[in-house]
Amino acid sequence: AKVLLTGGSGFIAAHILRILLERGYTVITTVRSQEKGDQIIKAQTETLKAKLSYAIVGDLAQKDAFDAVVRSSPELDYVIHTASPFLAKFEDPILDVLEPAINGTVGILRAVKEYASQVKRVVVTSSFAAIVNTESPPKVYDESSWNPVTWNEALSDTSKTYRGSKTFAEKAAWGFLGKEKPSFDITTINPPLVYGPIAHHLENLDRLNTSNLNIRDIIQGKYKDNPLPPTGTFLFTDVRDLALAHVRAIEVPEAGGKRFFLVAGHCSHKQIVDGLRKTHPELSSRLPENPRDDFPADVYGYDNSRAREILGIEFKPL
Ligand code: NDP
Repeated sequence: AKVLLTGGSGFIAAHILRILLERGYTVITTVRSQEKGDQIIKAQTETLKAKLSYAIVGDLAQKDAFDAVVRSSPELDYVIHTASPFLAKFEDPILDVLEPAINGTVGILRAVKEYASQVKRVVVTSSFAAIVNTESPPKVYDESSWNPVTWNEALSDTSKTYRGSKTFAEKAAWGFLGKEKPSFDITTINPPLVYGPIAHHLENLDRLNTSNLNIRDIIQGKYKDNPLPPTGTFLFTDVRDLALAHVRAIEVPEAGGKRFFLVAGHCSHKQIVDGLRKTHPELSSRLPENPRDDFPADVYGYDNSRAREILGIEFKPL
């Protein structure tokens, strides 16, 4: 079967790509430059290379960003849409974050509907950002929870911009399905903070993806004599489990039309420090001695039973 994977240069996409190729799928991935495309091809073994190609696309904010690649890729069976900005810093909330997230998601769905009617399913990488509710948090988070963030909050409060982008993009995807009634179905995958090994090309550690930045800083000794930053989100997922979930989402018929809260467990920055001390004792001299633990006693719960039961994911611990 043939899969279109958007955002192939990303942290999560690199793991999805590896699993797809190892399972024998033919993959076309999208990138923003020839250099990035060539790096992805170069990273594969000769056998896997034979089934991989890439297409260059423009900024996701352009509503027709995916038209050309979808139109010129005959026999696509599935689409996995991961591309979306997850930036530690940005200048313009609309141009840099909200529009690329929303237009990219609607754009890929529209392109598939118009030019690739044989596609059976589009899997969209959403996020816990579209689930979390800081105003009235449920005792236990599951797929029924939606972030109540408004457009104005996403514009005026930069801490809500990314969460808004994921919420509005996912809502737009389900809205598209309801209104446009395409012949394909969709599945959304909603992970909290994603940690794990780097499989994509990294120019240098300054370019590390956003979710891994705190781990990088801890390892480099930034908090040896400074307080650990607040954990923020007390939930994590291993990137390898998340990648497998994306592939299972195209393989398991019952995954269609569903949202999946892809959460492995609780964590805090202090627990990450403790874990590093155990697994990497050679780093001990750079780790904070007695960091404060901000893990709340009444921390919210999570329910990952749908991902375990339907997608068959066995979550790796922290
Ligand atoms: P990365 O930053 O590593 O990857 C993002 C990908 O999207 C890159 O391929 C990037 O291309 C592409 N992209 C971003 N902005 C644009 C744009 N304006 N136009 C075109 N392409 C763009 O992030 P992750 O791998 O972590 O994220 C992948 C997906 O997973 C995103 O949808 C993100 O929201 C979601 N997610 C991530 C979590 C995490 O903790 N990492 C948690 C929950 C969800 P380029 O390389 O050219 O910049």
